[in-house]
Amino acid sequence: MARVDLLAASYYNKTQNEAKDRVLSMKKNQIKYRFIRRFLPFLLAGLLLTGSGCAPDSAEHTESAYIMNTLVRITLPADTPAAAYQTVFAEMARLEELFSAQRADSEIARLNQARALSPLDPDTLDLLSASLDYTRLTGGAFNPCMGALTELWGISGETPQVPGADEIDQALALCDPQALFLDGQGAAFQAAGVKLDLGAIAKGYAADRAARVLREQGVTRGVISMGGNVVVLGEKQTGTPWRVGIRDPLGSADEIVGYLQASDLSIVTSGGYERYFEQDGVRYHHILDPATGYPADAGLISVTVVTADGTLADMLSTAVFVLGARQAETLIGQLDEPVQLILIDKQKRITSLGDELCPFTFTAAGGGYHYEG
Ligand code: ADP
Ligand code: MG
Repeated sequence: MARVDLLAASYYNKTQNEAKDRVLSMKKNQIKYRFIRRFLPFLLAGLLLTGSGCAPDSAEHTESAYIMNTLVRITLPADTPAAAYQTVFAEMARLEELFSAQRADSEIARLNQARALSPLDPDTLDLLSASLDYTRLTGGAFNPCMGALTELWGISGETPQVPGADEIDQALALCDPQALFLDGQGAAFQAAGVKLDLGAIAKGYAADRAARVLREQGVTRGVISMGGNVVVLGEKQTGTPWRVGIRDPLGSADEIVGYLQASDLSIVTSGGYERYFEQDGVRYHHILDPATGYPADAGLISVTVVTADGTLADMLSTAVFVLGARQAETLIGQLDEPVQLILIDKQKRITSLGDELCPFTFTAAGGGYHYEG
């Protein structure tokens, strides 16, 4: 799980582990989400403000829940009714039940199993339809039909291993997005063995829906953070933009290379540093290149996408990681929506490409990084 860490990153990590332990100790199906009420006064920018000599901000309040294998944190003005958080978590839990390939009863798992399923929930249809559009848009760098390949690598499971070249070829033959057909009601695969894996886009979609639920309830300021996916609504209570740190991909979880100041935007980071395994001294990460079947290696170690649409941002963070800087620049130049990219390459060069949607402040000169603007 790559992520844009909010600036209270070390605090975040502690609470994330704590939240995982707690959730694991609960009865599985009884509890869909959980609040963590401790440590609430420290919000996103808490540590940052402290670091820059200001008092921590207590005008906002955070509630957390463990959904989609991620600690989801919702930060809203302190006077927001508790029901607002609960409605958002319930919506996200509902989407997890639709999209998760791991949950045997999800719509996606049932579709993978049965090869055809109709009717599908409108949100599943919506996400599948967007996914196929994005596959075309990215020339296949984003591919939602890579379930056979991601299962073969097992990077998110207990026993990941490097598959044989033949096995990779066989799995790749089952990753054809053209095998997926949608008819406005349901979906079907025209070939046996093709499976959906929406891991690169589902969180972005859920974050968008969460933001919509908040807006419907009249909430105009806040942050939804799902690890690497962040949506910011409006500005902070103080009238200043939210600050979102970009994690140092080579550093520890509490280190950042800089931060963005954003309002009404989605910010998503993907990197090879979060989920990986090592075999014979080589590191294999979880973003796979659909052209080769192996972990993508286009020279980037972290991709941050800023745009209004969180689903697009999530999809693009994965696709740009696969495509590399040059092709990414061409791709975003073709989009109708304004998009900003903050890329970090293997040479520790940080570049900002595309539209200037929010200012990036570089803070990691000491770590050997170079910001090239
Ligand atoms: P994260 O889920 O860690 O935030 P991403 O958004 O980049 O990171 O999604 C990575 C996940 O998406 C992988 O774990 C896998 O399930 C799936 N995936 C990997 N490579 C691709 C790809 N090229 N296209 C679509 N999905 C991918
Ligand atoms: Mg993604």
